[in-house]
Amino acid sequence: MSSSPLSEDRPYLPDDFFHQELEAGSLLRIDGTRVAALSVDFIHTLHFALVEHCGDAAQDILYRGGYEWGLQDMIRLNRQLHDEIGGGNFDLWQMDAKFVLESWWTTLAEAGWGACQFDFSRLSRGVVCVELKNSIVAQALDGADHPVCHIYAGLFAGALSFFERTERHAVEIQCQALGQESCKFVIGPGAEVDNAESRRQQGASAAEIIRRLG
Ligand SMILES: [Zn+2]
Repeated sequence: MSSSPLSEDRPYLPDDFFHQELEAGSLLRIDGTRVAALSVDFIHTLHFALVEHCGDAAQDILYRGGYEWGLQDMIRLNRQLHDEIGGGNFDLWQMDAKFVLESWWTTLAEAGWGACQFDFSRLSRGVVCVELKNSIVAQALDGADHPVCHIYAGLFAGALSFFERTERHAVEIQCQALGQESCKFVIGPGAEVDNAESRRQQGASAAEIIRRLG
C-alpha cells in the first residue's frame, strides 16, 4: 500500500511536489505553476534585516505580509475550487471550514511550511485555534525569547478573514523557537486575540489560554 507524500511515516521530500527545469532556471509544482525556493538562511536574514531597518515595526510588517499572502492564496483557492467543482451553485462560503482551510494549507505543507492542525470547535464565535509543527521561521530563529512566527499569524488571519468575510486577527501563543514542541495560534475577533496575547504576556501557558477561550 503506498503512503501519501505528506504522511507522518516518511520524511518530507521536496521532489515529491516539485521538479526543476534547469535550462529555464525554474522550479515548478507538479501542476506546472512556478514557485521559488527559500532557504532557512534566507528566512533568518529577512527577519534580522527587517529588525535592523524597521525596529519594532518589523513584527507588523511580517504579519501584514503574511495576511496579504493568506488573502491572495484564498482568492486563488476559491477560483481553483470553482473550476474543479464548477457550476453556478459553487459557493465557497457554504463549504465546510475544515475542508476549505485544510485544502488551503495542503499547498503550503507541500511547499515545506510545516504541518497544521485546525481546531474549529469555536468557529460559531469566530475563533479558530491552530497547532503548527515544523515552522520554518521557528527553525530559522531557534532560541528566541518570544514567539517569532508573525508571518504565519498573518497567513492564518488573512485566510480566516477571507473565509469568514470579516476582519480576523491572529496571535501566536506558543512557539517552537522557544523550545516548545509546536507553535500554537489563536485566530478570531480582535478582542479575543488581544485577551489571548495579554494572557501569554502574563505567563499563561497555551493550554490555559485555550481553556479560557471557552
Ligand atoms: Zn512559532
